[in-house]
Amino acid sequence: MSRQLTCPQCQKDGVLRGRPQSPREHVAALVFVSPFHCPSCSHRFLASRLRVNHPQYPIDRREHLRIPVRLYLSFSGGKVRGEGTVLDLSMGGCIIKSETRVHTDDIFYLQLSLGEGELPLEVAAMVRSVSARGIAFKFLRAGQESKRLLAFVQAQTPDQPDKSSGKVGVAA
Ligand SMILES: [Zn+2]
Repeated sequence: MSRQLTCPQCQKDGVLRGRPQSPREHVAALVFVSPFHCPSCSHRFLASRLRVNHPQYPIDRREHLRIPVRLYLSFSGGKVRGEGTVLDLSMGGCIIKSETRVHTDDIFYLQLSLGEGELPLEVAAMVRSVSARGIAFKFLRAGQESKRLLAFVQAQTPDQPDKSSGKVGVAA
């Protein structure tokens, strides 16, 4: 069951949930209290987000984009060790080419070489499928929340608004 919040200032609904910004709001987020924003009067207030069904500000879709890459990787799990090439990467997982035999649902620790001179990114992942296309891994939760992975994915993604804004007409 969900309830609709109304703005405590102007009593209108259509309130949007925001992201925590101030230290106080970050602390509040730990107990499921989120900042809300009223588009009618711009009032900002904190409220419990539990049992509230509200549209959130648009989520950054780049987090879910699959990007074509070519990264060396090694992986290990149980007695199996292997290496291969990552062909496709997203925050949720990756597709690799490898000669090593793996099975669906096997869990491995992957080490992805993100760049020369950088420590490999270590992430636990489960084999989702094995096909002619390659081995599809799904990152376990810690990997999906990895800040380093996010930074890497975002850096590989063209069309970053923060970089291209105000530069209309730059030749590609
Ligand atoms: Zn309001």
